[in-house]
Amino acid sequence: MPPRSSFGRVAFAISLVAVIVVVSGIFAIRVLPPRVVPQKHATVRKTAGVTLPPQYEVFDKQAVPERPVRPVVPPVSHKPKLVLIIDDIGYSKSMAFHLMALDPEITLSILPGSPYGKSIAKAAQAKGRELMLHQPMEPNEYPRVDPGSGALFASMEPDRLIGTFEANLADFPGIKGVNNHMGSKLTSLSPQMYQVMTLLKKRGLYFIDSRTSARTVGRSAARLMQVPFAERDVFLDHIQSRKAVQRQVEKMLVIAEKHGSAVGIGHPHNVTWTVLSEMMPEIHRRVTLVRPSTLVALP
Ligand SMILES: [Zn+2]
Repeated sequence: MPPRSSFGRVAFAISLVAVIVVVSGIFAIRVLPPRVVPQKHATVRKTAGVTLPPQYEVFDKQAVPERPVRPVVPPVSHKPKLVLIIDDIGYSKSMAFHLMALDPEITLSILPGSPYGKSIAKAAQAKGRELMLHQPMEPNEYPRVDPGSGALFASMEPDRLIGTFEANLADFPGIKGVNNHMGSKLTSLSPQMYQVMTLLKKRGLYFIDSRTSARTVGRSAARLMQVPFAERDVFLDHIQSRKAVQRQVEKMLVIAEKHGSAVGIGHPHNVTWTVLSEMMPEIHRRVTLVRPSTLVALP
């Protein structure tokens, strides 16, 4: 009930206004959403009526300076890799064991049908060595030069070629790869090399091209069939004199140093063993001997 005196009416009106102000203030703070103050820099970009996303921080290659070029210093622990294969194995047990004893990473490649091939393979595998099949293939000089037992010939039908190759592989369970013995003719023939690579692919084996012919199609056939591949850089002992083998070992080391890796192939000759045993400290100083399986790659 409003007061009757004029003073009382004024006082009542003032306190009513005060209450309304306080209540509406509380309402404004508690209930109404805060007023959004536009940010000066939060711009909405519009082009021809289309709203674009905000401009994120972007760098282009020209604007972001690259690290200055650093001098190339080869890591101390990194040495060039060398694969050293001795093939034509299977005719002398003692020479095979002497060669193997030079270094645990030296890899023997064994001829199928050789008198001691299987027993050398068993002994080598018992020592945890990597082994290869040294697959004979037709040379250009055939029939004057005989590639030997288990050879693959250009005249073979595909079934016979694959059957012969399969039988050789079956003689050496646990081998990791294959390189060609001779083969200057066969490795230059695409259909035959595709057949060879198809079987290698199926068996998960690598191929090392001995490169007995400049016309070899080994690399392209391995690429087509996606077979891990490497190729011979140096033959150590095509001339069997001490000087010549020393020269070839040096050449192999220089290639490894220049390119980071090299593949050398030697044979079970006395002179090869002699030079390798003399030069082994030098070989170990300059390169790391590795197994072929660690060097091969899809070509
Ligand atoms: Zn050979």
